[in-house]
Amino acid sequence: SSVIPIVNKLQDIFSQLGSSSTIDLPQVAVVGSQSSGKSSVLEALVGRDFLPRGSDICTRRPLVLQLVHQPRRPADADRDEWGEFLHHPGRRFYEFPDIRREIQAETDREAGGNKGVSDRQIRLKIYSPNVLNITLVDLPGITKVPVGDQPTDIEARIRTMILSYIKHKTCIILAVSPANADLANSDALQMARQADPDGSRTIGVITKLDIMDRGTDARNFLLGNVIPLRLGYVGVVNRSQQDINSDVSVKQALAREESFFRSHPVCCSEVHCFFSLCSFYFIILKCNSFQAYNGLAKHCGIPQLAKKLNQILVQHIRTILPGLKARISSQLTAIAKEHAFYGDPVESKAGQGAKLLNILAKYCDAFSSMVEGKNEDISTI
Ligand code: GDP
Ligand code: MG
Repeated sequence: SSVIPIVNKLQDIFSQLGSSSTIDLPQVAVVGSQSSGKSSVLEALVGRDFLPRGSDICTRRPLVLQLVHQPRRPADADRDEWGEFLHHPGRRFYEFPDIRREIQAETDREAGGNKGVSDRQIRLKIYSPNVLNITLVDLPGITKVPVGDQPTDIEARIRTMILSYIKHKTCIILAVSPANADLANSDALQMARQADPDGSRTIGVITKLDIMDRGTDARNFLLGNVIPLRLGYVGVVNRSQQDINSDVSVKQALAREESFFRSHPVCCSEVHCFFSLCSFYFIILKCNSFQAYNGLAKHCGIPQLAKKLNQILVQHIRTILPGLKARISSQLTAIAKEHAFYGDPVESKAGQGAKLLNILAKYCDAFSSMVEGKNEDISTI
């Protein structure tokens, strides 16, 4: 999986050159209707609380989130995770609530304070020992009725914005649909199908498994019996609004999710608490109707989603790498030609040659002393 850091670097360079449109690098984008749980899924994947979430419109600008894995530093444990925004170069945000506040402030700066939406990106890097090296894009959700400062054609605008990300053949789509609505009505799956008709880069994510109607479960959704998806579905349980209000952390939420899936195959906790004293047999009988997620381990939970995502991403990058290389080298050739057109720089060729020789000689010295084990710092020569 060592191809991912290289791609991350390239992506950074291209975005700073302002030419991201010419080279499509792989990214993972979340799509779905508003409040389906897109930001919650991304947050859980990262393992930290830093995204604005809620029952209202929170994500109002595309957020490009580059996760950068780095080694754990046990000696300096509170300082081995931080965020850095492209619009604040060099400033490290160690406190994740500060990152959220900055996203909100930067959203307001561009899109106003009254629910307005903008297609200008916010770019954020998260450095952490707890993440996989991937780039995620959080997008505003699809809404139907304009509120606040939103224009009358808000739905069409948001769809166009989403499409501009997910139409690229290199974008992996996380199509997020809540389990408490019918999949056949899913905006996420509808848009994903529009951008990726053969489903070769769409992963279905079913959220809110914990708040489905009594007597229903997402088994058929997850198995692809309702709407088949080539790369399949993963079901997750994120924090409810009440959890967010009472400051349940992402870590606690992941533990709860695990226990949700662990307890669900056996019997639901309510039944357990209520009847455990009365009748053991009752629980055994009841088990049949609570087998929901038994045997579906590969389709359940944020850790499974992270695993699936990484596998798909690496595979994806491997297949597009040759084409990407060809495009970059043809751009390089074009730039070299343009450069030649402007002629030699002012300094004489002889002077440049001498400088180059000098640098090379220094590096040779440094290299040989390193090989001999003198362990000298290159910067001291
Ligand atoms: P987004 O608009 O798609 O980004 O959705 P958010 O991530 O902001 O979530 C919208 C609301 O749904 C928030 O109040 C979340 O707490 C809640 N929510 C998201 N996922 C789940 C879930 O799996 N279970 C429950 N009970 N609530 C969830
Ligand atoms: Mg959101």
